[in-house]
Amino acid sequence: MTAQRLDGKACAKEVELQLGHRIAALNEKGVRPHLAVIIVGNDPASHVYVKSKVKTCERLGIKSTHIELDASTDEATLREHILSMNQQEDLHGILVQSPLPNHMDEEALTDLIHPSKDVDGFHPENLGRLVQGRLDGMLPCTPSGVMRMLNWANIPLRGKRALVLGRSRIVGMPAALLLAARGADATVTVAHSKTEATRELCREADIIVAAVGRADMVRTDWVKPGAVVIDVGINRVDDDSRERGWRLAGDVHPDVEEVASWLSPVPGGVGPMTIAMLMENTVRAAELTIQA
Ligand code: NDP
Repeated sequence: MTAQRLDGKACAKEVELQLGHRIAALNEKGVRPHLAVIIVGNDPASHVYVKSKVKTCERLGIKSTHIELDASTDEATLREHILSMNQQEDLHGILVQSPLPNHMDEEALTDLIHPSKDVDGFHPENLGRLVQGRLDGMLPCTPSGVMRMLNWANIPLRGKRALVLGRSRIVGMPAALLLAARGADATVTVAHSKTEATRELCREADIIVAAVGRADMVRTDWVKPGAVVIDVGINRVDDDSRERGWRLAGDVHPDVEEVASWLSPVPGGVGPMTIAMLMENTVRAAELTIQA
């Protein structure tokens, strides 16, 4: 079997097309969606992600404000930025790029973002709504991107066994909640670093969502023939054969395409969907200001 490619780029393009109509409707009402992205420090991967978010905003006609702060910036300064942005009426979404420098309390800072502007979907109020099964709030972008991609490919979830590898606040746990939510109706197991017999659990799953951060961890013998495999992982692996000295790898070994029915590629799978969902949350935040 050669897995079908779960093409996040193509799915994201369709999302962008629909957003284009919603943005035009907002513009007619005198509203231009506006996203602020704050980045602290010099982490090269984070700068690449922010650049790509700003570029997507430009392409869609979403205004973006990009604030770069030095790694030595104190927490109080970042707090001031967030609090002042909360008050800014023409600003609809605020994103603080993770990771923040070690001297900052990332959770406390993102908690300061007003829930209506929390386009990352990490505020306890938005995550709390998700736990309650209310899916109409700001949903975390990566897990909601995974769900959108599964729906787009018409992959049935109801009654299926899903295994989520990873239990982080931003990917694993919300992905598990979304898969188990009414409407999706999968039966979900969450595995983490203390899980025993992870490989055997994986082999029982109809759907695997790998969000661990370990290159090529999920191997062909972890996957039931015909399973759907979503690779969230983005890992840099040393590779002297490349000019830049490294390559990008997912959490799933590429050979899994020999056993899976669907496999999302890295890059070009979940990554573009995460950005598309961020854009959608920003547009939604702008729409809510005129409905309020
Ligand atoms: P975290 O480091 O926050 O979480 C990793 C999770 O994996 C933890 O729950 C950890 O368990 C679990 N884990 C670690 N080792 C094992 C193991 N051997 N078996 C099972 N579970 C294990 O990472 P994130 O959730 O933030 O990200 C995960 C991956 O997804 C990363 O590669 C990241 O770069 C990528 N990512 C990609 C995005 C995209 O847009 N494509 C967006 C966000 C992240 P424990 O809780 O016990 O420590």
